[in-house]
Amino acid sequence: MIAQNFEYSAPDNLQDALKQLAGDDAKVLAGGMSLIPLMKLRLAAPGQLVDLGRIADLNFIHEEGGALRIGATTTHYQVESSPLVRSRCPLLAEAAAHIGDIQVRNMGTIGGSIAHADPAADYPAALLALEAKVSLVAAKGQRDLPIADFFVDTFTTALGPGEIIRAVVVPVENQSTGTSYQKMLQPASGFAIVGVAARIRKAGGKVAMARVGVTGLSGKPFRATAVEKALEGTAGTPTDIQKAAAVVADGVDANSDLHASADYRKHLARVYTMRALAIALSRTA
Ligand SMILES: Cc1cc2nc3c(=O)[nH]c(=O)nc-3n(C[C@H](O)[C@H](O)[C@H](O)COP(=O)(O)OP(=O)(O)OC[C@H]3O[C@@H](n4cnc5c(N)ncnc54)[C@H](O)[C@@H]3O)c2cc1C
Repeated sequence: MIAQNFEYSAPDNLQDALKQLAGDDAKVLAGGMSLIPLMKLRLAAPGQLVDLGRIADLNFIHEEGGALRIGATTTHYQVESSPLVRSRCPLLAEAAAHIGDIQVRNMGTIGGSIAHADPAADYPAALLALEAKVSLVAAKGQRDLPIADFFVDTFTTALGPGEIIRAVVVPVENQSTGTSYQKMLQPASGFAIVGVAARIRKAGGKVAMARVGVTGLSGKPFRATAVEKALEGTAGTPTDIQKAAAVVADGVDANSDLHASADYRKHLARVYTMRALAIALSRTA
């Protein structure tokens, strides 16, 4: 199907973009990998598209104050291949490399992915495990939100009217931390049936810190705090990993669709949590 008629603009600075987004019927266009198909299916019919692609201020990766700041229009391929991200925050580069195929990674952006809030998207699991922040800007000001507060529900975020994502902020990883992103993918699209990101630090032979983000299992990505608590303080043996991973789906209202039933997704979540924890532990220094 062909999308409904719309106005198109491509401002070259953030101020103009924010002014143009003040209208009720305006929507941001980034990589177009999710929005354009929705428009073609007429599930979205914005009257105006404001393309962020020409705003140089939104495409960057730099290190500042112990964190990496990644501009909203940074593509998945730029994240995956950035030497800075690979060395300072390898979990994010690993998650980016799992997204779709090379065409999608060349066009799709980190801001577009998290704004779309697909419950099967890859970045959310990694960003939750990383305890990232999202930097938002609107004509009336700016604010930073912890990533856990940004994802509200399926395809729903905390973005307000006229507000856009400016950057994603992730802490620079302590070199002794081990990380891993493991995913069972839906072969046609690459989206996660279940994806698990793990981030682990050891001290004195024990797991001192564990962070686990899960995507694909339920309506929105979440931090598996029960798994984290079960693993912390243990020696991280295979039995410890198995016991911790066993609780990942407890109390979770699991998705069920033509790709995987709720029970199968819960099973996959336990298996992929075990894998992510084991690999992350093997990468700790
Ligand atoms: C074939 C295919 C396979 C895919 N496989 C995967 C996969 O395996 N894993 C995965 O995670 N994703 C996958 N995706 C989705 C892909 O990652 C998209 O790039 C992403 O969901 C949307 O990013 P975008 O830059 O294309 O955003 P767009 O499609 O341009 O926009 C998406 C939404 O975000 C809003 N938006 C965009 N940028 C901003 C911003 N800066 N501030 C506020 N709102 C904004 C738009 O208004 C729109 O509502 C796949 C997509 C396709 C087409």
